[in-house]
Amino acid sequence: MSTSPARVQCIIALGSNIERERYLPEAVRLLRRHPDIDVRNVSRVYESPATGGRNGAPDFHNAAALVRTALGPRQLRAELKAIEAQLGRVRTDDRDAPRTIDLDIAYYDRLVAKFDGWSIPGRNAATAAHIAIPVAEAAPSWQHPTLGLTMSELAEQLGASDGEVRAVTWIQLSSPYTLRGLDDTDDFDEVYAPRLESLVRQQLVELGEDPTRKGLERTPLRVAKALDFLTSGYSSSVAEVVNGAIFDAEGAEEMVTVKDIEFYSTCEHHMLPFFGQASVAYLPKGKIIGLSKVARIIDVFARRLQVQERLTNQIADAIEETLEPHGVAVVIKGRHLCMMMRGVQKQDSSMVTSAMRGTFKDNARTRNEFLDIIGS
Ligand code: ZN
Repeated sequence: MSTSPARVQCIIALGSNIERERYLPEAVRLLRRHPDIDVRNVSRVYESPATGGRNGAPDFHNAAALVRTALGPRQLRAELKAIEAQLGRVRTDDRDAPRTIDLDIAYYDRLVAKFDGWSIPGRNAATAAHIAIPVAEAAPSWQHPTLGLTMSELAEQLGASDGEVRAVTWIQLSSPYTLRGLDDTDDFDEVYAPRLESLVRQQLVELGEDPTRKGLERTPLRVAKALDFLTSGYSSSVAEVVNGAIFDAEGAEEMVTVKDIEFYSTCEHHMLPFFGQASVAYLPKGKIIGLSKVARIIDVFARRLQVQERLTNQIADAIEETLEPHGVAVVIKGRHLCMMMRGVQKQDSSMVTSAMRGTFKDNARTRNEFLDIIGS
């Protein structure tokens, strides 16, 4: 790795008006976990009436985060959209439609620029009190690139004419860890999970490394974020990822097969990756599920410390409980780095596990049909 690109500071505006108490903290958590985004400060949550003149539309909750990143503005925006998608946001043409989560770049360093359909500073950043007030809390001394005002001055002006933006104190966005503000500039060290990071630092020492050398300085932070992601299955659930996307399919009795879904997991014996393809089939009994949901169910269990056999069974159990089909089959082919990189070094070895339930277990013809389809 050569020297990393310069990191700049940005302010991200967050908004939600569906299950706000859930999506705002979750969005902040995903920002924190992002390998290329350091969260430096987060505002409180502010409540304001929904725009667009919709009577009865739920009020908006807004917040702002001061972050540091080496991503360019387009890349950063793409990452924010990916987080929105992960949180279930479906973008429509209706700008005032209710949304689970909105993540926009309000300010990007000193940049003033127009892009295709968006701009920096962000839409309404300097005109809407519900954006300016949380922004001012996250970065009070930030200078607006053209107006010659600080964020606190701007928020004060806008807030005076709009008394409807109120802080909501019962939603906690900031982590228990200390977040430092804008004024301590270059020596800033993001702290994500202090105990885990100090353990990684100790581990580096035990391995004979110098955790203060340049290339390792941010390694404990990166490892903590990576481990958090790789074990994020513990904090998700099948019900949450399926999210009601089960469809009635009266009379559909044909086998549904999803073949070769890529997965990555971590072996619980060595905490090293194993990865490969999972194929899943079921014989519906009136209920089917979106294909993409099968992949997400796999991730709920793959993103934990695992053994391949249990992963296989847990996926089969989840499909069985969700759809109550006539039968379920799961076959996983996995390659384990703990076998490939060390000891016997069987580079080509892959392990195959399967779970057969219901008709797939009882009826050889059904089972063979599935195995034919997946080419086993
Ligand atoms: Zn292992």
